[in-house]
Order: sequence, then C-alpha cells, then structure tokens
Amino acid sequence: MRLSRYFLPVLKENPAEAQIVSHRLMLRAGMIKQSAAGIYSWLPLGLRVLKKIEAIVHEEQQRAGHIPLLMPTMQSADLWRESGRYEDYGEEMLRITDRHGRDMLFGPTNEELITDIFRSHVNSYKDLPLTLYQIQWKFRDEIRPRFGVMRGREFYMKDGYNFDIDRDSAIHAYNRHMVSYLRTYERMGLQAIPMRADSGPIGGEDTHEFLVLADTGESEVFYDSAITDLTLGERAVDYDDRTQCADIVTEWTTPYARTDETHDAALFDGVPEDRRRTSRGIEVGQIFYFGTKYSEPMGATVVNDKGERVPVHMGSHGIGVSRLLGAIIEASHDDKGIIWPEGVTPFHCGIVNLRQGDAATDAACEDLYKALTAAGLDPLYDDRDERAGAKFATMDLIGLPWRITVGPRGLKSGVVELTDRRSGEAEELSPELAVTRLR
Ligand code: ATP
Ligand code: MG
Ligand code: MG
Ligand code: MG
Repeated sequence: MRLSRYFLPVLKENPAEAQIVSHRLMLRAGMIKQSAAGIYSWLPLGLRVLKKIEAIVHEEQQRAGHIPLLMPTMQSADLWRESGRYEDYGEEMLRITDRHGRDMLFGPTNEELITDIFRSHVNSYKDLPLTLYQIQWKFRDEIRPRFGVMRGREFYMKDGYNFDIDRDSAIHAYNRHMVSYLRTYERMGLQAIPMRADSGPIGGEDTHEFLVLADTGESEVFYDSAITDLTLGERAVDYDDRTQCADIVTEWTTPYARTDETHDAALFDGVPEDRRRTSRGIEVGQIFYFGTKYSEPMGATVVNDKGERVPVHMGSHGIGVSRLLGAIIEASHDDKGIIWPEGVTPFHCGIVNLRQGDAATDAACEDLYKALTAAGLDPLYDDRDERAGAKFATMDLIGLPWRITVGPRGLKSGVVELTDRRSGEAEELSPELAVTRLR
C-alpha cells in the first residue's frame, strides 16, 4: 500500500476523551472512529488488524476441529423466553420491537439460537461430538461503555458451543478449548492467563477466564508468578487426545490464578510469598461447561447407544476479538506509539523515502516495494512529500515491527537502513538483504 493513496487519518493531538493508552493510540493512529457511545467505525488500519486477529482465531478453532457457521445479529425474543433468560438478562440486552409488534433483540450471546439449530437437525449420539462457532458482532448495552473497543456496546466476538453425549466428553471439549485459546493468544504475542472465574448469567459449573495483565485492566487478579513461565510454544497438540489436552490444562490450572470474584485468601497464602502477585487484568476470553442447563429446558436431546433420549452436555466459549486490539496495545507500546507483534501487524513493514521526488531514491523505494510484495510481504510505503521527522513519527505511531529507511546518502554506498520498532536497533544493509531478512 502506498500511503499517498491510503486512508490513514492520524491525529496530531491526544484526544481528550481517551483515558487509557490503547484507546488514545487507536484514535491517534486512525484505526477507529466513534459513532455513538461504545459504537465504532473501523477505519482501514483498524480493520486490517481486526481481520488479522479474526484469521488467527479461525485458524486455531478449525485446527481444534471446531466448525464455523454464522448466525444473525438480530434474534427473536421467543427463544429466550424458552430458556428463561429473556427476563433474567436485564438491561444489558438491547430490546427492539419490529413493525408487527414482535419482540426482537440484538444478540448479546447465542446459546439459545445455537441450541435451536442443534435440536432441529441432530438426533443421534452418532453425530456427536460437535462444536460449532462463529465470529459475529454482539451488542450489550453496557452501562458505562469506555476505553474504546475494550468495553464497547457493539463488539466483535468469537462464540463457540460444544455438544457432547456425556460429561466426560464435554470436559474434553472444555480442555480442548483451553488449549486452543492458549495457542491463539500466543500467536498474537500475548500472554493470557487462565484464571478460575465466576459463571455469571451464562451459568454452569466450570469456567475459566483468560486475562492479560495490564494496569488498566478492569479485574483484580491474584496469581502465582510460576504461571507466567508457562508457554505452549511449538508443542505438537493432538486435539483428539484427551489425555494430552487434560495434561496441558492441569499444567496451566495448578498454579494459583484467580480473579477477585473467586479469590480465596487462605489458598493464596499457600503460594510461596515471593511468588504471590496481585495485579490487574483484561478479560480477553472465557470458557464454560454448563452441562444440560440449556439442552434440558430447550429439548436439545439425542438418542444414545441404548436407544434412550438424553439431553446433550454443552459448554460455550468466547474470545473478545475486538477487545483484543486494545489488550495487545496495552501490552505492547511505548511513548511513541503502538508496537504490533508480528502475528497481527496491519502491514509487515514500512518503507520511508527520505527524499521524495529524487529520481534515484524514488526508484530504489519502488524496487523495494515490488520485491517485498513479490516475497508475499505487505509493505506500507510512505511516499508522501513530507519531512523525514513526520514520516518517522507516523511509522512509530502505527507500530509496524520493521521500517526500511531509504535516502540518497545511503544509496550512494548501496545501503538502506532496517530498523526494529521494538528495540530501536538499526542496521545498514543492501536492499536485497533487507528483503531477505524480513521474509
Ligand atoms: P466483562 O466481564 O468484561 O463484562 P463478560 O464476562 O461479560 O466480559 P463474556 O460473556 O465472557 O464477557 O464474553 C466473552 C468475551 O467477549 C469476553 O471475555 C470479552 O473479551 C469480550 N467482551 C465482553 N463484553 C465486551 C464489551 N462490552 N466490549 C468488548 N468486548 C467484550
Ligand atoms: Mg460483561
Ligand atoms: Mg467477565
Ligand atoms: Mg466473561
């Protein structure tokens, strides 16, 4: 992409309404624009990152054997009356009446809809296990929308639902989700710690939230620092292997890690004192096992191997796709701007032309642009007629992990400069070598 032809409305001043760094940087970098409280337009740069995050979530879900579908954002109230949640859900649910006087709602979550799909089409234990998921916009009429995409009213969420014949199979689904979530967050350069949590209005017996540590997080968290040493890394995971998934879950759930909702001071005292940490965290996902809570009242049953009709065991699982942008920025920035982890960066690298209009410099930039594109990388070429300082400031603000600086002086000795956004380290090398480095 050539910056002169792109739409990147960066702000010079700090927007007064932004209280936390991620919100400030997303506005300044021209990623989002608020259209109403907690409701945003995704400008091109923001949309690119959102789509990168979405793609990682899809890949990891499908790797775990989960099947994507897409449900509507608008739902009929009838299904929610069946489950008993229409009355229970309260004011966070945006209720709408259509022209025929029918009660509708903008879905805050989808347990009812998915259960209805399931009961209409699945009858036999032979069709299980089944996990369906979607990535779709949700609406919750949050009392205090704030912090930009972190607590929006309209937000993008991955929500998945497993259907299993019995408790053991459903617990395996729970474990599989935990492992796939750990892998998902790691690919985004994030450490998200699973913490025992409270099930809230979703209900159920087992639940973990995934929290990214950050001072601006809304949850208070208590954990054993040993948990922050754990990584999945390149481990080969067989998602059908119940023992392997269960072992990984045991590894991550053995060190103490809880949110304020489930914190147990006496248990926490059992953690060696030098490893006890109290901090704040951002909830980026949650998984639930809730047995037959929805399948029973809604009649989601299958015939088992003995010919009996039994309610299925279910769980639901969510990732805050749009909130993740904020969480990643909270975890990865400096005073100049965002620092995108490679996995989610909107462009792989930036090209800064120090002397726009100089024939040799322009030609060298064009060659680099073409070579990077041919190598499957996605460069953002700052070809505007601007001062070098302004170009550097824009690149630092939008946080591309690499910058290639091209100027007449370097070109005389056949070199460009490759700069690492995170460390600030710069290296002079030939344009060809720069492309090889980034590949
Ligand atoms: P919170 O405690 O922050 O209100 P929640 O527990 O109500 O979140 P869940 O029902 O667990 O949310 O939804 C799954 C995920 O969706 C959350 O872990 C979070 O990452 C994301 N999410 C929930 N509410 C919002 C929101 N208002 N704006 C952006 N993301 C959200
Ligand atoms: Mg909530
Ligand atoms: Mg919560
Ligand atoms: Mg939650």
